[in-house]
Amino acid sequence: MKTITDQYQRPIISLRITLTNLCNLNCIYCHHDGMESSKDEMSADEIYKICEIAKNIGVKKIRLSGGEPLVRKDIVEIIEKIATLDFKDISLTTNGVLLEKYSEDLKKAGLNRVNVSLDTLKPDVYQFITKKDYLEKVKKGIVKAVDAGLDPVKINMVLMKGINEDEVEEMFEFSKKYGIVLQLIELVESENCDDDKFSKEYHYSLESIEDELASRADHVKTRKFMQSRKKYYIDGGEIEVVKPMDNTDFCKNCTRLRITPDGKIKPCLLRNDNLVDLISHIRRGDNDSQLKERFLIGINNRKPYNME
Ligand code: SAM
Repeated sequence: MKTITDQYQRPIISLRITLTNLCNLNCIYCHHDGMESSKDEMSADEIYKICEIAKNIGVKKIRLSGGEPLVRKDIVEIIEKIATLDFKDISLTTNGVLLEKYSEDLKKAGLNRVNVSLDTLKPDVYQFITKKDYLEKVKKGIVKAVDAGLDPVKINMVLMKGINEDEVEEMFEFSKKYGIVLQLIELVESENCDDDKFSKEYHYSLESIEDELASRADHVKTRKFMQSRKKYYIDGGEIEVVKPMDNTDFCKNCTRLRITPDGKIKPCLLRNDNLVDLISHIRRGDNDSQLKERFLIGINNRKPYNME
């Protein structure tokens, strides 16, 4: 199926589905993937239907996120169903707390790869960031994901001034040991913390780190459809740098549509005023071409949040 492009010639390649708002951690900085909270969740069959229509309009990749996607009791069933649609890639972003339990089943169900959020290897810092004591559990989960054959496994590390910016090297060593790609993420503002405290105390620019990585790298790759983010190959390991999303480059290269946990199409990460209802159309029995029409409205609503 040919990929559809929006009015700004951006192809719609991937669909990011937020499976739930619920999470088993309460990270100090969490932006909840730009989602407004909602109690309503989609069933596994409804998620399958959404993916089926997405596939029909040329979407190639599915990413499952949250909240925490692994708190859904039917997560394996959801992936099994989506996997029958034969996407090029099915991935999941998780905090890793339940990864030890689920890695093998997820792989068997058809999950290709996983991103695990882990900002520190120090127990006290982990407790400070997440309010929980699950560091060892998460580390075991990461190793289990590698052993289960999920590939690549990536670690998402949000850098915060005075909290973990001095841990990059240690995290890189841990990642290299297991063949994991390390993604360094620049902190962005979130309603979970008050903005003043947020930017003054914790924001840490990744520029100096990127300069250092560039000088150490054997090879650097720019990922065009991934917001031009750079990947540095150093001493047999890989580090990617994820800069803030509120810039024109991010918007220009955005190929992603999102689905909220309560089944709305979200055309832009940074906006909630142009959502398109999909779930009530599925629930009232609309046919596939009517559901495709909902997607096309969503795609038509895609306007770059930041324009040049
Ligand atoms: N619960 C899952 C997890 O922890 O990976 C999925 C949801 S979480 C919102 C998705 C990603 O967003 C995580 O990698 C997290 O580190 C990142 N994230 C959350 N808030 C952020 C912020 N304020 N700035 C940068 N990244 C953030």
